[in-house]
Amino acid sequence: MASTALAQRIRARIDRTGPISVAEYMTLCLLDPVDGYYPTRDPLGSDGDFVTAPEISQMFGECLGLWVIQSWDDLGRPDRFNLVELGPGRGVMMADMLKTVALQPDCFKAANVVLIEASAALQAVQAKTLGASGVQVGWADTLDDVDNRPTLIVGNEFLDCLPIRQFIQTSDGWSERCVGADGSELRFETDGHTAPESVTTAFPGTHPDPADGDLLEICPAAAQIVDHLRDRFAQRGGRALFIDYGPAHTEFGDTLQAIKRHEKVGAFDAPGDTDLTARVDFAGLAALALQAGLVVHGPVPQRTFLSRLGIEVRAAALLREHEGARPKLLRQLHRLLDEDEMGTLFKSVCLSSSGLPHPLGFT
Ligand code: SAH
Repeated sequence: MASTALAQRIRARIDRTGPISVAEYMTLCLLDPVDGYYPTRDPLGSDGDFVTAPEISQMFGECLGLWVIQSWDDLGRPDRFNLVELGPGRGVMMADMLKTVALQPDCFKAANVVLIEASAALQAVQAKTLGASGVQVGWADTLDDVDNRPTLIVGNEFLDCLPIRQFIQTSDGWSERCVGADGSELRFETDGHTAPESVTTAFPGTHPDPADGDLLEICPAAAQIVDHLRDRFAQRGGRALFIDYGPAHTEFGDTLQAIKRHEKVGAFDAPGDTDLTARVDFAGLAALALQAGLVVHGPVPQRTFLSRLGIEVRAAALLREHEGARPKLLRQLHRLLDEDEMGTLFKSVCLSSSGLPHPLGFT
């Protein structure tokens, strides 16, 4: 028997119209308005399913606030600029960033804060978190709805939840991996066709030579963001900063991962009730951005990026204020910076309009 209401709906749909792509499966599981994962809950925190860097420590968002101030300065200190966050979760990172940005009142006043969030449940949490910051924030459905002015965009653990398509190399070329059904169970299968050139020419081309059976993942939604940045930054300057998990070089392999209560589970165990993510292909993203004429900085490991933004200095300042917090702060630094935690698997990359100085954290 299908495990969730969404599983039954997906099953019925496959019966009617055939297998669906992995990207469609992810979209339904994560964003279906009735039974999808994000619209129906707040998944973050130790009581939830997963914990992110801004939820681990205020220092994360505070350091990113410095990146915002420096980037605003690099843009020529515009009187008004968009400060956009993609997938803001509980709004904690933006609240911490704004605490730092407030130290530079001209930048703080100039910021038009826009949140792009697919989940109404999380929008409500964001409104509450940011209500306390004294800043007026707005929401937009997509980047296209954000005003045309200089723009800084940030996204932490946003790219990893964008739907991916998967292709498997066969003797005839790339064949798409799909979600089909076997009796009442969902299962992976290949669609049996060779992917047309119109699809494969959009592959970033950063992957090694494939052998039969190699699996390649592409993220069309990330490519759309790159196209948007190209058009937006051609008119007014700007930068986008993404922090996420994934390798620096394109690798083959199935990285679709389902998480429930901090544990890995099967991708079909409970559709709509588990988080689904895939590793970000930073090299592929960088290649698309370069093709689009953007300037790419990084990726750099999260530990390097945060150290350059002065996270240890910030920790020392917090320790001076609350000596009793030492064990807690050291634990937080360990989780954000150490190689066996988030320090190297997580990376940050900056996609920028041309003609700007090196962004903070990437020199
Ligand atoms: N950035 C936050 C939350 C990460 S979880 C943090 O670091 O804590 C992913 C976030 O992206 C959630 O807020 C989720 O609802 C949102 N999201 C997922 N897909 C989205 C989409 N297509 N458009 C907008 N927001 C999306």
